This record gives sequence, structure tokens and C-alpha cells, in this order.
Amino acid sequence: MRRKMVAGNWKMNGTRTSVAELISSLKREELPSGVDVAVFPSSLHIAQVVGELEGSAISVGAQDCAEECGFGAFTGEESSAQLLDAGCTWVLVGHSERRLLLGEGDEVVSRKFSAAQASGLRPILCVGETFDERQAGRTLEVVSRQISCVLDVVGVAAFEFAVVAYEPVWAIGSGLSATPGQAQRVHAAIRGVVARRDPAIAEGLRILYGGSVKAENAAELFSQVDVDGGLIGGASLNANDFSAICRAAGN
Ligand code: PEP
Repeated sequence: MRRKMVAGNWKMNGTRTSVAELISSLKREELPSGVDVAVFPSSLHIAQVVGELEGSAISVGAQDCAEECGFGAFTGEESSAQLLDAGCTWVLVGHSERRLLLGEGDEVVSRKFSAAQASGLRPILCVGETFDERQAGRTLEVVSRQISCVLDVVGVAAFEFAVVAYEPVWAIGSGLSATPGQAQRVHAAIRGVVARRDPAIAEGLRILYGGSVKAENAAELFSQVDVDGGLIGGASLNANDFSAICRAAGN
């Protein structure tokens, strides 16, 4: 049985004051013990969030990492080793905002996944098709390519401690979530791609759905057999909404 996970991607939001308020509200919320809950603040706030969550079951992740895993002359970058040292457990790689706005391709994403893995950070590999790709009937082809490219570089064994997030680009921040059936079809296909390399790793792999998840649609999405929780953007900035989504994953 795969343990459900709910991850909150705070993106480029928050000040020290608002982050402190969000954390103290989250700590007052009832979170289900059977669900792994993680938050992904901006890197500026990681140390603060790690400190303020000390003793809580909520883990902390980064929104990105460098392709280089150690230390060195890479101005402006943060390596997975540094993020681990700062108290992170997780790191997002390949979020569509980075793929599309910052031009990160599958090769860069694969190197970031590999760097994270080498440092002991657990990667959450984000994949998903654009609206045009879905309209052209290319969803499974695109998502399979995104996953296979990383598998070719890091090998299937590296997926034992990783998580995949299926995030259709058209659903992110749009208010228009995939239907539970649409999500299930893609999640099953992703599991199939991994299963062709190692059925046992595929069976244990958690695949989160992301894209306009809210307290109102979370339970139905999470009830699909291959949907193992969610990656939450907008709704993770509100402790009430985020904890309701976590409780939906616990039911
Ligand atoms: C995201 O950006 O990862 C995301 C899922 O955003 P939202 O929940 O706001 O659609």
C-alpha cells in the first residue's frame, strides 16, 4: 500500500512575516497521521520554515536545485548538498514553470534529478502536457518522454525514493482541474512506463496529481487507484484549505 503524500508548492510567495503566520496556522490545523505532508517555500525562507516546523511531522523541500550537486563557482545557484544541509528532505525538479518560462529541457531536468539523488535529497519529478499537446492527443507521448528521459539517465533504481507529480500545464493555476478519470489515465500510463523497467519499483512509486486541486475536488481525485496524493500550488498558501486537502488524502 502506497502512503499518500500532499506537498504544498509556495512558489515565489511570502515574506518572513507571512511565512511565520502560515506556519503557525498550519501547526494549529489537524493533519492526518497517515499522510506525508511537505511544504516547499522559496529558498529564502527554507531555514526559517525548517526552524519553525521543528518537532512537527511536516517536512520541507526546495522548489529547484542546481545541476551540480556539490559546491563551487555557480553564482546564484543552490546545490542539493546545500539544500540538504539547510534541512530539506525533498526537491521539486522539472516544474512546468521552470520548463516553460526558464527553458529547462528534459536533459537539464534529468541532471537535477541525478544531483538531488546523489546528495540524498528526494526528488519530486514534475511532468505534464500543455493544452495544445492535449488537444493534439499527445498527452501520453509527452509524459512518457519526460519520464523516460530521466529513467535513461538515472536508472530505474533511483525512482525507489523519488516521487512523480503529474501536473497538466493547462490545469496549473487555471481553476480547471483534470477530471479524476483524466488524471487516473495518465497516472496509470506513468506507472506503466516505470513498470516496463521494474514492476516492483513502479508499484511502490507515489504519483501525485497537481493542477487546481482544492478542498472540494481533492477527495475524488485522491480516490483514483493510481493517484497517491497531490502537489498543491495556490491552495497551499492557506492553512485551512491546505489542511482540508491533507485530510481528504487521509480518508
Ligand atoms: C503547481 O504549481 O504545482 C500547482 C499545482 O499549482 P495550482 O495548485 O495553483 O494549480
